[in-house]
Amino acid sequence: MIRIPSFDLSSRNTFGMKVRCALFVEYSSVSELLELLSEDLPQPVLHIGGGSNLLFRSDFPGTVLHSAIVGISFAPSVISSSPSVISSEVEKSPAPADDSVIVEAGAGVVFDDLVAEACARGLWGLENLSLIPGEVGASAVQNIGAYGVEAGDVIDKVFCIDAATGEEVVFAASECAYGYRDSRFKHEKGRYIVVKVTFRLRRSYSPTLGYGNIKAALEGRDLTSLTPSDVRDAIIRIRREKLPDPAETGSAGSFFKNPVIPREHYDRIVASTPDGKVPHYDLPDGMVKVPAAWLIDTCGFRGAVKGGAKVYDKQPLVIVNATGSASPSDIISLENDIISAVRSRFAIDLHPEVEHI
Ligand SMILES: Cc1cc2nc3c(=O)[nH]c(=O)nc-3n(C[C@H](O)[C@H](O)[C@H](O)COP(=O)(O)OP(=O)(O)OC[C@H]3O[C@@H](n4cnc5c(N)ncnc54)[C@H](O)[C@@H]3O)c2cc1C
Repeated sequence: MIRIPSFDLSSRNTFGMKVRCALFVEYSSVSELLELLSEDLPQPVLHIGGGSNLLFRSDFPGTVLHSAIVGISFAPSVISSSPSVISSEVEKSPAPADDSVIVEAGAGVVFDDLVAEACARGLWGLENLSLIPGEVGASAVQNIGAYGVEAGDVIDKVFCIDAATGEEVVFAASECAYGYRDSRFKHEKGRYIVVKVTFRLRRSYSPTLGYGNIKAALEGRDLTSLTPSDVRDAIIRIRREKLPDPAETGSAGSFFKNPVIPREHYDRIVASTPDGKVPHYDLPDGMVKVPAAWLIDTCGFRGAVKGGAKVYDKQPLVIVNATGSASPSDIISLENDIISAVRSRFAIDLHPEVEHI
């Protein structure tokens, strides 16, 4: 277990905010976590993963916990392409009878390492989620999604410790209340600490290619004989073209959620738009989802700067720490400017996807 008082969190949040917490603790087993939960830790307590969906507004007065429970294990029926890291923290599940394969991963596993390993073994299900920053524990909290796939589609079970009682609680995916970047864990914040997640992947050919420009990125390929790694490579190419690499430029990915508005409201926006072209997705309940990126871009914010914060040129849904030394107030000030402009022009309230701490 690692314990560091007055810890500098700048390398633990992808925005690169230079903030401190009173105490940082990294545990590497469930028993260490249980020991910690019985202690009198500086309050409040915040559990982080890779810090890729967080904006620290200021120093954090309490304890920041991080899981180093690592290890990926595949049901034994899968032929291994390479030796897998097996942790004693992760127990084996019996192989399912159908063509699916249960994959278990500790909460502290880097999510993209899991995706890479699954693809290398020819397993379908995670490939569209390639290159999303962060760790396995948070993927189940956030219900991360990209290119038509959400974590909740492939999660089998989420294994948690109830922080209040210290008891293990296991949720089937159907009990996690998954929605767009939403889950029960977000609504019961701080109660459940995810320690491991199982995913149900498939051996049989089952790509999801209908979203974004995946097919264009696979042009020239025979779409009936792709491997999960082919799709992963295409997704990585697409993402690298339009999203900042957290290793080079601080950000937390999409800053705002895409708003959902009534059809009449959407029709009014179309009528007031010179070319009448407003990108949108019709939802089954008759509501309309409008890309926040289009709203932000139309309000003229692409490339807008506030102190060290900037709206990313290639994707206006992303706010970046352009100078590397942006302060939380630079980011929040730019966020507020965007919210005000979109509200006054379109009468839409944008809500941040990034969690403000
Ligand atoms: C460049 C970039 C691109 C991105 N692209 C996407 C994308 O395409 N799709 C998408 O959905 N997201 C995307 N994101 C957002 C981010 O990657 C996800 O939200 C990710 O799941 C966050 O994981 P994390 O480990 O960094 O969690 P953190 O940001 O550290 O935490 C996120 C939340 O999970 C909680 N949490 C973390 N670990 C645990 C645990 N073990 N138990 C209980 N709660 C926990 C935290 O308290 C917090 O509420 C992107 C971010 C960046 C920087």
